[in-house]
Amino acid sequence: MFGFLKQVGDYSREAAAAARGITQGLAVTFDHMRRRPVTVQYPYEKLIPSERYRGRIHFEFDKCIACEVCVRVCPINLPVVDWVMNKETRKKQLKNYSIDFGVCIFCGNCVEYCPTNCLSMTEEYELAAFDRHSLNFDNVALGRLPT
Ligand code: SF4
Ligand code: SF4
Repeated sequence: MFGFLKQVGDYSREAAAAARGITQGLAVTFDHMRRRPVTVQYPYEKLIPSERYRGRIHFEFDKCIACEVCVRVCPINLPVVDWVMNKETRKKQLKNYSIDFGVCIFCGNCVEYCPTNCLSMTEEYELAAFDRHSLNFDNVALGRLPT
C-alpha cells in the first residue's frame, strides 16, 4: 500500500514538472508572437546597410591621377593601375584600373588615402558569383553606380 502511494506521488510530481516545462516553453513562444521579426525575406526584402558599411568600391576614372597611392596602402597591393607617360603633357595617363573583389578584404585603406577622392565605398554587398574571375572589376564595372 505504501509503495503504491509513493508511485502515485512520484508520478504526480513528474506530471507537475512536465506541465511547468510546457507552460514555460509556451510563455516564450507567446512572448515572441507579440514582437516584430528581426529577419527579412531575403532576396525579396533587403535591409538597408548602415551608413559606414564598407561594400563594393566605386571608382571615378576622370579623377584618378595614377599616383598609385591606393596600391601602396593596400595590405595586399591589390589595385591594378595601368598607365602610360604622356610625352606632350609630361603627365601620367591612366589606361585601366581594376580591383579584384575576390581578393579584396574591404579594409577601406585605398579609399581613405586616395588624394583625389576618386574611390568610395558603396553599400553594395551582393557580390556572390559562380566564377571568381568575374569579381575582377575593371574601371567600367567599378564606375557603375550601385543599384
Ligand atoms: S590613389 Fe586614387 S588617384 Fe591615386 S591611383 Fe589610386 S585611385 Fe588613382
Ligand atoms: S579595400 Fe583594402 S584590400 Fe580592398 S583594394 Fe582597398 S586597400 Fe586593398
